[in-house]
Amino acid sequence: MIFKYTFVNDKAKNLQKLISHIVIDVWCNAREKTFSLNKISNKNGYRKKVKDTPKNLHEPIEKIFNMCSTLSQSQIDYIKDAFIKNNQIEELCNNTVVPVFYDSLTSTIGADFSKEVKSFFKNLYEQVFKQSDFHLNSHYDKFFTSNDKLCPFCGLNPLEKDSSNHRDDYDHYLPKEKYPFNAINLKNLYPMCGDCNKKWKKINNPIHDGSSQKQAFFYYNNSIDPSVAISVNLINTDIQNLDLNITFSSATQQNEVDSWDRVFSTSRRYKDILLHKNFGKSWLRQEQAYYSRAIQQGGSYSVQNTIYYAKSDRLGDKNFIKAPFLEACQSAGIIS
Ligand SMILES: [Zn+2]
Repeated sequence: MIFKYTFVNDKAKNLQKLISHIVIDVWCNAREKTFSLNKISNKNGYRKKVKDTPKNLHEPIEKIFNMCSTLSQSQIDYIKDAFIKNNQIEELCNNTVVPVFYDSLTSTIGADFSKEVKSFFKNLYEQVFKQSDFHLNSHYDKFFTSNDKLCPFCGLNPLEKDSSNHRDDYDHYLPKEKYPFNAINLKNLYPMCGDCNKKWKKINNPIHDGSSQKQAFFYYNNSIDPSVAISVNLINTDIQNLDLNITFSSATQQNEVDSWDRVFSTSRRYKDILLHKNFGKSWLRQEQAYYSRAIQQGGSYSVQNTIYYAKSDRLGDKNFIKAPFLEACQSAGIIS
């Protein structure tokens, strides 16, 4: 994580509030009851919204209500607890709350219930949330103006929003395929560059590595800036055969940094940039040219000026990896 996002709290949060009402107040009070639309509150127009969205709200809400009507109280309590836990996104990232997986929902409540919930939340995100009444697209517009227009997961690519309204996708940070109930929680939704989203993260899970729960950066953290130091270690100092590795360290957030590298393959991607003939190697050729020209003119030149500038404009033009790279190359005597 190169920097954090500013959370945009707008009307797009209302769908999550509606679904919270459905799960906690309607489904979790369904035992031995019969469904009617009157079970849904009139507050904030909830009942009308459900009634007016028959295929993706009314029908599945009624179907899942009917399933809940036959459950035991302990099963109902499990659903309520799972909904609450899986929506505590910051606590889940901090590893202070243990989430509930679909597998656990299947074993505790049943495969049919788990399948219906998965289908319902998938459609909520893919069909309902993108309708203008539920404001996800207008949320992106506000997000775009409130945040640096750069992907913080890699720091390499701009976030997109062009004049024809093409935009980058939101990524479900905690994968919606793994965790029930949080597919429309805005704190679990991050605009992300296409490379990070589609090529690298895909369905990788920041808070679980396949064997155990892990801490991960929460990108809407209000109080803590990310802390990661990038070190470039040269293995071969011949420019033609240049080779290196990259390590990340953090005095306070090493676990989060490790999860970030695991999920986004950032050290590998940065290495590729630094060894690329039109990026890292080009930066070296440029410094060597500045040096030769200065010497020819009877002056002097030091890469320290470039490093100083790169550190002062860290997010500009890959400077956060350029500075440690040039420092390592200067220490190795490749540039002066
Ligand atoms: Zn990215």
